[in-house]
Amino acid sequence: KNTPSFTQWRDEHSITCQPPINPILHFDPEIFPMELIKRIVKSGYDTPTLVQCQTLGVALAGRDGLITAATGSGKTLAYIWPLIIHILDQPHITPNIDGPISLILCPTRELSKQVAKYAKLYIEPLSGSVVEVSGGNRGTWELCKELKKGCEIVVGTPGRIIDVVRKKGTNLHRVTFLVVDEADRMLSMGFEKQVGSILGNVRPDRQTLLLSATFGKRVERVARGWLKDPVRIAIGRTG
Ligand code: ADP
Ligand code: MG
Repeated sequence: KNTPSFTQWRDEHSITCQPPINPILHFDPEIFPMELIKRIVKSGYDTPTLVQCQTLGVALAGRDGLITAATGSGKTLAYIWPLIIHILDQPHITPNIDGPISLILCPTRELSKQVAKYAKLYIEPLSGSVVEVSGGNRGTWELCKELKKGCEIVVGTPGRIIDVVRKKGTNLHRVTFLVVDEADRMLSMGFEKQVGSILGNVRPDRQTLLLSATFGKRVERVARGWLKDPVRIAIGRTG
């Protein structure tokens, strides 16, 4: 009977969610698979952060999201958790030996490696796998060889991803959950065209989340092309 007022919750924390979609405020076993909750508890987290609460609600409702929240607010896991739930929901018609179900684009190698670490931490206990495609000391040929074994998640930088797709190391036919992380940096580093070309090769009925620490005209403009009727989430005054 004591229904929480989400409007009040948003006001208290300066959260915008337009259109309003109910947040997920707890690691609820009806929503999160038990294996995932166990791993979350092991990480020492007892509640989702504000951006996680709101992004989980929107992502699990199947909507696209344009999400802005300050650095350090927990945006990585805000998309990793719903992405994993999305993967577990898929009928595994062609298990493993195919391209990824989820693709995460990062502007830098360092970020890509860090995101891949989180993705592995949460999907490996559920028997899924991640391939990190950003290079460093690994060449395209070696990456292609690993990708051909199949995986559920690919995390990488735009140039390298275009490279491995072109060399047929993997394909994007199965991608239904797409993430563009640090969109503001992606643009300031000049990756707009490359990201656009990757997104243009992913099925249009995919779900897409775009995350950014800052929000401005450029992010707004690309979001219009990359996202489909997105829910706008802003935590605090970044947007
Ligand atoms: P952002 O991408 O918004 O800059 P990160 O995803 O890098 O933020 O997360 C920042 C820090 O918050 C990380 O050290 C992460 O482990 C921690 N963190 C993430 N989710 C939670 C949570 N639910 N509770 C406590 N700490 C968390
Ligand atoms: Mg981040």
